[in-house]
Amino acid sequence: MSRQIESVAVLGCGTMGSGIAAASAAAGCRVLMLDVTADAVEQALQAVDEGDRHLVRTGTFDADLALIADYDWVCEAIVEDVAVKQELFARVEPLRKDGSVISSNTSGIPLRDIAAGMPDRFQADVAITHFFNPVRVMKLFELVPGEQTTPDVIEAFAAFGANQLDKGVVHAKDTVNFIGNRIGCYFMLSGLHLAKPFLAAGMTQETIDAVLGKPVGLPPTGLYGLIDLIGLDVMDLVGKNLAVNLPDGDAGHAYTSFPDAEQRMLERGQLGRKSRALGGFGRVQKLDDGSKKKETFDLVAESWRDATAPDLDGVPADLGAVLFDDSPQGQLAWQVFGGTLRYAAGLVPEIADDIVNIDNAIRWGFNWAQGPFELLDTVGPDRVSAKIRAEGAEPPAMLQVLEDAGGPSFYRGGHYLGRDGAWHPVTP
Ligand code: NAD
Repeated sequence: MSRQIESVAVLGCGTMGSGIAAASAAAGCRVLMLDVTADAVEQALQAVDEGDRHLVRTGTFDADLALIADYDWVCEAIVEDVAVKQELFARVEPLRKDGSVISSNTSGIPLRDIAAGMPDRFQADVAITHFFNPVRVMKLFELVPGEQTTPDVIEAFAAFGANQLDKGVVHAKDTVNFIGNRIGCYFMLSGLHLAKPFLAAGMTQETIDAVLGKPVGLPPTGLYGLIDLIGLDVMDLVGKNLAVNLPDGDAGHAYTSFPDAEQRMLERGQLGRKSRALGGFGRVQKLDDGSKKKETFDLVAESWRDATAPDLDGVPADLGAVLFDDSPQGQLAWQVFGGTLRYAAGLVPEIADDIVNIDNAIRWGFNWAQGPFELLDTVGPDRVSAKIRAEGAEPPAMLQVLEDAGGPSFYRGGHYLGRDGAWHPVTP
């Protein structure tokens, strides 16, 4: 029997839940919004377009949980705490109608932990539906089945995500941080550490952000600007989760905690844009004459200074070419961005069955111009492998699969290279 999603009960209407509710209502779905207090739901309702509010019913967990019996999809988006999520799911499960599907929007708790001890019907109907913030803007929608989730459940979520919500569906596995955040957070956390020798040698944070921006196809926020957006507090939690859940031997273990200066920022509450006057790696000061001044928190001096222009002198303009440039900027790009490409190329099939899901997740979740494998194709995978070998290391798994398959690129003629060394059609 195929499943149809035409209505959604959203449990927890904070940042993510209100976005999921608003997007679903905008797609013409009936929506139920429940939260701990009526006030919280009323506030969340403001996120729904006025013209869609007739589709929305609101209530609280204590008074109105039984209403979920009338909805096709029960979508949990409450606090990131496994015990709290388990408790809510245990209350919800007996109330949910047969044939409905159920999901968690967790960013990092394994589905097997959330579902532990739940009945068979739950195990068959549950998945992780991982949206990115802000829900209505970000295209990425990661779907993660549990061990017993039936294929029609994933098909129903994929169809709803693509057709009703206009999302880019990515099929991920029940591994820590799924796809987008596994690679994106490796970039950020490894970047903070690997940038240190360059900072010590006098490279500015503005230059580091600029090198790790357009020259490699990333948004202008680069490294520090991106962490300022996300918040050091969130990155700290991500690091702690990685430390516990990364597989043994994963390169990410080296980067699960902050370098000293960043740790001191966290302890001071200097978390990023959310900290306003305290700032993060940068801040904007309002001057008495009404004008604004951009400042940078200098990580070496650990004090504020005026922002400076980045030094991109001589950095090649062609996408990714900086990776092979012999300048300090080129070395930085190779270590931080090249290191992230290497990391990604070692994660098939651990986090995804194929390179297409990885490329899509990174383009849609982090707004890179090209996903890691597309970018490798752009710069030449053979050049990357040669550079890795010149440093005395072995290229990661997918680069070796490509070599064995005779290269020269991961994509050719509408096909992609599989982990099995064969070429498979890229389906839209
Ligand atoms: P939020 O803090 O904005 O909202 C959390 C919601 O949980 C609120 O509605 C709150 O009332 C409710 N809540 C708090 N304590 C509760 C309890 N004891 N029982 C039931 N409900 C309770 O959080 P958010 O950013 O919307 O995150 C929600 C989920 O989505 C989390 O699992 C988070 O990891 C995940 N997520 C967040 C982001 C993001 O960027 N914010 C992105 C992807 C996934």
